[in-house]
Amino acid sequence: MDGFSNSAVERAKIEVSACTRLLNHEGVLGYSGHVSQRLPDGETLLIQAFDASRNDLAPEDLYIIDLDGNVLDGDPNARPVNELEIHAEILRARSDINAVLHWHPEIATLFTMVEGVDLVPMKNHAYRWSSGIPTHPESWHIDTQERGRAMVETMGEHNAVLLRAHGAVIGSESIAALMVDAVHFDENARALYDASRLGTPTPLSREESDEFAANFKRTNHSVKLWRYYLSRGLEAGVIPEEWAEQLAPAERV
Ligand SMILES: [Zn+2]
Repeated sequence: MDGFSNSAVERAKIEVSACTRLLNHEGVLGYSGHVSQRLPDGETLLIQAFDASRNDLAPEDLYIIDLDGNVLDGDPNARPVNELEIHAEILRARSDINAVLHWHPEIATLFTMVEGVDLVPMKNHAYRWSSGIPTHPESWHIDTQERGRAMVETMGEHNAVLLRAHGAVIGSESIAALMVDAVHFDENARALYDASRLGTPTPLSREESDEFAANFKRTNHSVKLWRYYLSRGLEAGVIPEEWAEQLAPAERV
């Protein structure tokens, strides 16, 4: 690969593997769903093999593909995930996004199956989705370029999209931010679901979210939570010790 070093690719592979394992360990991701990361050339990405376990995903389970889904590197005895177009088409359309998660969160997906009930920001860390979380109407897998582009059209300038009767997709600027956004996305969906059982939910207004966002140090928050989840993963043996140095955030909080 031209344009960036092998060590950058190796580091990115460890980040994608670790993020997948940590999301699985924390109960966000299950037996399916996937994480991708844009590589430094901007035109290629890492995505896992369709049948590799999320519980112990390793760098050798990852493929390098281009934005048209062509495999440039990876195990010839398997293939990338079926819904790679979710990742490739978001990365093609959105230069502000470098990492994508697709998963099947049970509570958030409920909001695609009930008339007149939208998933809206309830908790302050859901400010990330204050512009809205649209629902893509197609329930089939996003497994062609055409379906990927239609989904991206539904997503628009927002940072998340729900897939009807299927799951969710979020995009973030880095793997650490993606991990943290995934946790907050699930927290927020649960908060709305639980609040609706207590009474009439009072979502955050756009003004409240904007005010929170204006004063919020997003990078510091991502570093803090990434450090927390990484520590839990290391302690539980979910993350190999030899990955720790590559995954340690450089910034101080
Ligand atoms: Zn799916």
